[in-house]
Amino acid sequence: MSLKAALRASLAAHPVMWALSALSVAAPFALDSRYYQDIAVMTFLWAGVACAWNLYSGYCRRVSIGHAAFLGIGAYTSSALFLNFGISPWAGMLAGGLLSVAAALLIGGSTLRMRGSFFVLSTIAFAKILEVVAVTAKGVTGGSPGLLIPYRPGLANMVFEGKLPYALICWGYMMLCLAICVCVERSKAGVRLSAIGENREAAESLGVNSSGTMLAAFVASAALTSLGGSIFAQYFMFIEPSSVMGMGNSVNIILLAIAGGMGTAFGPVLGSFILTPLSNLLRGGLTEVSGLHGFVLGVIMIAVLLFRPDGILPQLRIMCGRLAAAFGAGAGAAGGNARPAEAAGPAAAHPARPAPGPARDAGAAPWDGPVLELVSVSKSFGGLKALNGLSLSVREGELLGLIGPNGSGKTTLFDCVTGALPLSGGKVLFRGADISRMKPWEIARAGIARSYQVTQPFGGMSVLGNAMVGAFCVTGDYGEAEAAAAASLMAVGLSHKSGAPAKSLNIGERKKLEIAKALSARPSLLLLDEVMAGLTPTEVAEMGEIVASINRSGVTVVMIEHIMEAVTSLCERVAVLNFGEKIMEGAPREALESPEVAAAYLGAADGS
Ligand code: ADP
Ligand code: MG
Repeated sequence: MSLKAALRASLAAHPVMWALSALSVAAPFALDSRYYQDIAVMTFLWAGVACAWNLYSGYCRRVSIGHAAFLGIGAYTSSALFLNFGISPWAGMLAGGLLSVAAALLIGGSTLRMRGSFFVLSTIAFAKILEVVAVTAKGVTGGSPGLLIPYRPGLANMVFEGKLPYALICWGYMMLCLAICVCVERSKAGVRLSAIGENREAAESLGVNSSGTMLAAFVASAALTSLGGSIFAQYFMFIEPSSVMGMGNSVNIILLAIAGGMGTAFGPVLGSFILTPLSNLLRGGLTEVSGLHGFVLGVIMIAVLLFRPDGILPQLRIMCGRLAAAFGAGAGAAGGNARPAEAAGPAAAHPARPAPGPARDAGAAPWDGPVLELVSVSKSFGGLKALNGLSLSVREGELLGLIGPNGSGKTTLFDCVTGALPLSGGKVLFRGADISRMKPWEIARAGIARSYQVTQPFGGMSVLGNAMVGAFCVTGDYGEAEAAAAASLMAVGLSHKSGAPAKSLNIGERKKLEIAKALSARPSLLLLDEVMAGLTPTEVAEMGEIVASINRSGVTVVMIEHIMEAVTSLCERVAVLNFGEKIMEGAPREALESPEVAAAYLGAADGS
């Protein structure tokens, strides 16, 4: 989807929010008091900065608490260039942006791999270090007393007599950040960022290079924040370390985005439109008791976080949906980023349709050997040998059953093939190429997709959005990915749920979604881990038809399954594991009659 198409689609989906954001430019012109115009300037500026923060932390769900550091880089770079070399702040702004890109690459490259709270702590440390640098590098930053920007009004100096030019600049900055968020949201990067935010491992298994995607978003977020920093400096005409890079600004940015709705393009704008004026008006109004306005604001924030942790915007959307439904508009319950691509069908059980197209390598050079070959694969967890020198071949186009008692190493085998776990020994060949050392996302892009035994939906995203993640293995175009995802959902009979949030699905639907997610990546080899477990007999029969139809479309399938009726009816061949070793390979009937297999399942030496 081109940028123009993304903006057009967003305009159609959120006309009210676009109108509110665009028309807000008139507010400072309508207000003839400098006090209220100042509030408008701050509202636009913080809305833009919160949007910039949202670009990484909102979509990835990884809170950067030290983002004001980038505000500081922008503010100090443009100010220092202006004061020392007379360089226009407009050019200084770009220089600050570039410096922030360099800083984000350095910091992001070393910290984005950190999990949970460690990343959060590293961002605080970064902001604190920069603050100390700003205090000590007096020659450039002016140290603790700060830098004063001389009052020389003019467009080139970005210094103006009244507030209105600043309001226009800040509004433009906000609209720029908003437009970038909207375009990212409706792009490959946006879908991937949301998937990473929901479940990083599952996203990688669908071809998402999580480190690269996150770093790109972090860098873009830092650069945009830095632009806001330069505007901040020119507006206040004075900067000192704590007023720009202090924790107060970082926390303010986060609160605006979270209150409005993090991970949504308009959430941070809405958050700022409500909270920035409120905060300023409270500060002006509640002067009797010092700090009272902070107390009131804190209580409001706690209430929002307690009762509406997703933020105000998602709640407004739900309310509007209900209103529209009440008035017969029949609004769809879309959740997450992706909109439903087709009209909702009946909610009754849907027959399985053919798989959404030939496997990706269908046109590739013919390969005579096995699609997948495991050569003496071992995997140890400490002293436990989950896989012990296991060798196995999977033929092109077959539907192989992988059976064995619980704990025999079946899931571990899938983890080793898909790169989720490093091998302890041996190698894995896919169409003759050694994939043992490849990353999960590289293996997914090569043509191997999997489902998880414990389903791993991207809960906050729509069902269609879930299925779109894998589709970007095949295309970079948003519209094409949407169409591929819709075809995958149709193949598993989930089209009628495409607009629903994935977390609302029941277990049978989640199992189907696992398959649809994998199918969108157009794999040539599909690994299914107990997709029938926990289903009713009718659902098992339906799932069997879905799996058979995928296999008929040319996809090689390896299926872990405990329901032997399904295995015997679907598979020509089974491999049986026990204690990480292959104890037999052959027709399902042979396996059922094998005393060794019976002994493995029942624990009886003679198989009785
Ligand atoms: P299956 O899928 O056949 O039921 P698994 O492959 O899940 O079995 O597990 C095989 C063995 O490896 C079990 O004993 C299990 O406890 C162990 N195991 C699996 N994953 C891990 C892990 N991440 N860490 C430690 N042990 C594990
Ligand atoms: Mg398992």
